[in-house]
Amino acid sequence: MKVGVLALQGAVAEHIRSIEHAGAEGVAVKHPGQLDELGGLIIPGGESTTIGKLMRKYGFIDAVRFFAAQGKPVFGTCAGLIVMAKEIEGGEEAHLGLMDIKVSRNAFGRQRESFETDLEVKGLRAPLRAVFIRAPLITAVGDSVEVLSTYREEIVTARQGHLLVSSFHPELTDDSSLHAYFLEMIQSSEAAVK
Ligand code: GLN
Repeated sequence: MKVGVLALQGAVAEHIRSIEHAGAEGVAVKHPGQLDELGGLIIPGGESTTIGKLMRKYGFIDAVRFFAAQGKPVFGTCAGLIVMAKEIEGGEEAHLGLMDIKVSRNAFGRQRESFETDLEVKGLRAPLRAVFIRAPLITAVGDSVEVLSTYREEIVTARQGHLLVSSFHPELTDDSSLHAYFLEMIQSSEAAVK
């Protein structure tokens, strides 16, 4: 199974390493034409305004919307979460607008720019070591969105069918269990297609 990581800006190599650790082939995606060969796509952390701008420039907005409309799983982490959201607080225009969530950027404040914690995530057997870096928060979710984890009562992991998002960086530790969870989402979506 091939899983792509959008490689316009951000933490690409680390996601590829986690995908391979979880047992699939990771591909750096630089052109929309590469999406056809993938079972799923990860949009990494980085800087969401920059990623959004580059996605528009290289024709990824419609291509990823089409990819997701086929039922193929998409996983957004940190800035990738912001890129997937239908609504960004503060009036900034949505990028992909795929997932029925509202997000607040840099929501942990300056004194907590980055930190690590062990998180209980629904569907994972053990707590996950989560690294937050200038992380966004999910401040509202639609009816079809399932909350998978919270940190101090704020939503930090969520799923809507074949769409998955986390506020934190799951690719910066040796624990690839959230990537393994995403691979299972791809396997069950492929099973649904067959
Ligand atoms: N603060 C970044 C943004 O708003 C996201 C940070 C990250 O991806 N680590 O785009």
